[in-house]
Amino acid sequence: MPKANPQRSCLACREVKDKGSLLRFVLAPDRTVVPDLQQKLPGRGVYTCMKGSCLRLAAQKKQFSRGFKGEVLGAEAESLTRQVTEKLEERIASYLCLANKGGKIVSGSDQVMDKLKKGGAGLLFIATDISVDIGEKFRGVARLKGVPCVALFSKERLGGLLGKELRSVLAVSDSGFVGSISLETEKYRNFFEEERK
Ligand SMILES: [Zn+2]
Repeated sequence: MPKANPQRSCLACREVKDKGSLLRFVLAPDRTVVPDLQQKLPGRGVYTCMKGSCLRLAAQKKQFSRGFKGEVLGAEAESLTRQVTEKLEERIASYLCLANKGGKIVSGSDQVMDKLKKGGAGLLFIATDISVDIGEKFRGVARLKGVPCVALFSKERLGGLLGKELRSVLAVSDSGFVGSISLETEKYRNFFEEERK
């Protein structure tokens, strides 16, 4: 019999889910609440859904103090949300760096457009500060070719990840990286999605 996945409940909505799909938090020695996205930090953890709305609710209802049985520091909704956002972004960024080292990233408008049209692009990143017209042009071609688009990071950050100047768009070539990066961007998207009733 395969061992069942460990289950934990969300501090906010109380729903019980696979531990791995939740957001874990641990307590630092000074009792600061620390998000643990990799679920590897030592100590007892408390959990929320991987959703901004549950994280905010847990913070507003002082559930972190309850979960950790005592006063805690750094459990404000805003700062926890910011930290989780940064960590989610860092994970996506580090996958993009890895893909780049593996020669699986194409950047520069002409090269990316070429790659989209000829096939072989698995995922398209569009800078959040790209001009509307150019963004639409890339989205249109990507839609036609069935390539998913992610609008994340500024031109400066996209370029910086590749060790280059500003980059408005980059394409991840069809490869194992597409799956790993898509999983992370999906988490990111879910985190910001408003709770549906
Ligand atoms: Zn929840």
